[in-house]
Amino acid sequence: MKVFGSSGVRGLANDEVTPTFAMRVARAAGTAWGAKRVAVGRDTRTTGGMLADAVASGLASVGAAVDRVGIVPTPGLQAYAEREGVPAVMVTASHNPPAYNGLKLIGADGIELARADLDGIEELLDGREFARADWDAVGESRRVEGVRRAYVDDLLGAVDRERIADAAPTVALDPGHGAGALTSPGFFRRLGCEVVTVNAQPDGHFPGRDPEPVAPNLGDLRRLVRASDADLGIAHDGDGDRAIFVDERGEDVEGDAALAALAAAELGPGDATVSAVNVSQRLVDVVREAGATLELTPIGSTNIISRIRELRTEGANVPIAGEGNGGIFFPNYRLARDGAYTAARFLELVAERPTSEVVAPYGGYHNVRENLDYGSAAQREAMLSAIARAAEAADADLDRTDGYRLDYGDAWVLARPSGTEPLIRVYAEARDPDRAERLVDRMVAAAEEATADA
Ligand code: MG
Repeated sequence: MKVFGSSGVRGLANDEVTPTFAMRVARAAGTAWGAKRVAVGRDTRTTGGMLADAVASGLASVGAAVDRVGIVPTPGLQAYAEREGVPAVMVTASHNPPAYNGLKLIGADGIELARADLDGIEELLDGREFARADWDAVGESRRVEGVRRAYVDDLLGAVDRERIADAAPTVALDPGHGAGALTSPGFFRRLGCEVVTVNAQPDGHFPGRDPEPVAPNLGDLRRLVRASDADLGIAHDGDGDRAIFVDERGEDVEGDAALAALAAAELGPGDATVSAVNVSQRLVDVVREAGATLELTPIGSTNIISRIRELRTEGANVPIAGEGNGGIFFPNYRLARDGAYTAARFLELVAERPTSEVVAPYGGYHNVRENLDYGSAAQREAMLSAIARAAEAADADLDRTDGYRLDYGDAWVLARPSGTEPLIRVYAEARDPDRAERLVDRMVAAAEEATADA
């Protein structure tokens, strides 16, 4: 059974992700770690306390003392793990709807566990061979106060405070009732911003909006930006590791455009950056302009983290990496996605010119997507071989990291089977909408022709 996906374990809380299950994962992780002490944190979900209790019990039963840090953004728990040199378990379903919950495992270096470590824990889970402490050696739980404060202090020391404070921007903040509600308002105030908020009470029912910071959920934030005449709108997901922006006119900033703007400020000649195979042409263009290199991984943050680690081991400088969904790494600060840190780095750019101008060079790209349904395994195979033939015949660079990605220099097209639905997804991006449309059409036509008689 595959328990750990590309971003930990997630599922319907108290249905798929039950206390029993959480305890088993904790016992397996605690056994693999063999650590004397493990930290446990959670986001604001209604089921978070219940699952964190189960995780703490599981850890205590293998003999680990437990630091209960309470509600904290995932990057805040990662900072604690690194500072204390202890592994950690984060109870969160990140951007998933309120009924979901999950677990993220963090190493004693503060970094999410790599695939190989997760596979090892998965084996222990399957074999149900857990360490068991004697009655006088079970772990003790203690409540640790001040973790959020320490996290914010850490952030303040890592960004250009003076530059932001001098500009004294007004920031409209929508932490979406998540863990960032307890840290981001204070952080941006201490940075010298005027802060106005919406959906800023921590609330596991998420009454104002769902935890995912995507355009349909950000109407409140767009209105708040306009009403308060803010310079920047910032939205987080449920566990505060992502940041999505709204410009000073109250219009959405595309995640890919924000990533491109941050990358342009960060990348120099010889640097490397990492993104997933659905990377935007905007980042491709920024990387080329900077004289840097771009490495692509299968979709999912675990894959990106593994590749960053490898590159750094080889001596590369990887100042920025990530995806267009607002999940961005600044590995020289910390190999973790951090919504508050990302937003502060973006504010450094906004201190110089209006948000809309910061991202203007990265606008004007067009994305086209189409889903191909298949009825049977035979149809799926026929489609994929037709796509493979079309990809190999095309006059473009072919990347087989995850599906088929064709890079034409000025545009790209990607065809990959969905991991969760009976679909093959076809995406393309170009400055010219017709070009993107044609690239998708060509791929779709090849696949559909092949299934006509399958
Ligand atoms: Mg998240």
